[in-house]
Amino acid sequence: VAGSAIHPEPLAAGGLVEPPLALGGGVACVVCGAHATREIASAIELEAQRRYLRLFHRRRLRSKDPEALEERAEFTQDYVARIVACTGCGLVYRDPQPTAETIARLYARDSYAPERLAALYQSQLELFRPKARALAQWLPSGRPVVLEVGSFVGGFLAACREAGWEATGIDPGREVADFCESKGLRVLRRNIDDVELPGNAADCIAVWNTFDQLPDPGPALRVLERSIKVGGFAVVRVPNGRCYAACMGLLRRAPQPVRGVLLAAMTWNNLPAFPYLHGYSLATLDRLFGEHGFVRVAVEGDVLTRLSDDQTKPWAAREETLLKAAWKIVAGVAASLGHPDAYPWMDVYYRRRLRD
Ligand SMILES: [Zn+2]
Repeated sequence: VAGSAIHPEPLAAGGLVEPPLALGGGVACVVCGAHATREIASAIELEAQRRYLRLFHRRRLRSKDPEALEERAEFTQDYVARIVACTGCGLVYRDPQPTAETIARLYARDSYAPERLAALYQSQLELFRPKARALAQWLPSGRPVVLEVGSFVGGFLAACREAGWEATGIDPGREVADFCESKGLRVLRRNIDDVELPGNAADCIAVWNTFDQLPDPGPALRVLERSIKVGGFAVVRVPNGRCYAACMGLLRRAPQPVRGVLLAAMTWNNLPAFPYLHGYSLATLDRLFGEHGFVRVAVEGDVLTRLSDDQTKPWAAREETLLKAAWKIVAGVAASLGHPDAYPWMDVYYRRRLRD
């Protein structure tokens, strides 16, 4: 088993000095508004995890192509920060949060070669076909109206089109919107908070892998509440902040071999260095959506989409398969015992209810 090849990297903060950074106190929790937090991962631990990530992926890639490595190990959230949890509601988030200008600048630099866009489109289409099938059970027959916030290269939009649905993406990215249009897919080139959508018109709005990157989810939730029909659905896919917090606790307590395996499993699920703004849990999502007129109808725990491709060494591809299968089994058992937050990722389905 490839597990023996996992590189142990020091992660515990024991004996390390905190960096001279003015952190904390400034960020209010976007779910409950509280300021009090406890630390989940220090800035030093986060930095160690980023170094670990680079080493991890470098060892698993066939080529020494720096671009291939960058794609695996570089993240949009690459400034110095720590990860905290709100003591009021448990929301996990980055502290400090980036400014709106920083976010805009980071996303504006996203640029892809044409063949890379085509490859992403193909892999995303394969990923979203089963998700569209899962969604179909919640949608009316005929030609349901479906929107996607953060449509990226259009994989989900294309899966919707195959299902015979009327699909529109919302994405401010110029390059990806151009690409979608070249595929005949409709995209509104806007941020979710400045898009004008007809009220009470959508059967479903999907937010795959974008919700956790919104600095403030409030405007997006208000758009969902206004635009989704009563009885219609919102579906959101997020990394599980509660799962990350539990993993960090386990990393500190577990003996070295267990830590190595856990870190590798976390890395195949893109959890180390927690490259997201917010780590929601089922409870914090329920609270946010509940305040905007939604009630949860289903949750699908999941692992991250497969990362291994033709650039990945065969042993590493087997390692990914094995660790993700093992995680699904453990999380499935935990869920059956009443702990649904053991999955690293989750797809959560909400129905818009009639306001009383
Ligand atoms: Zn809170």
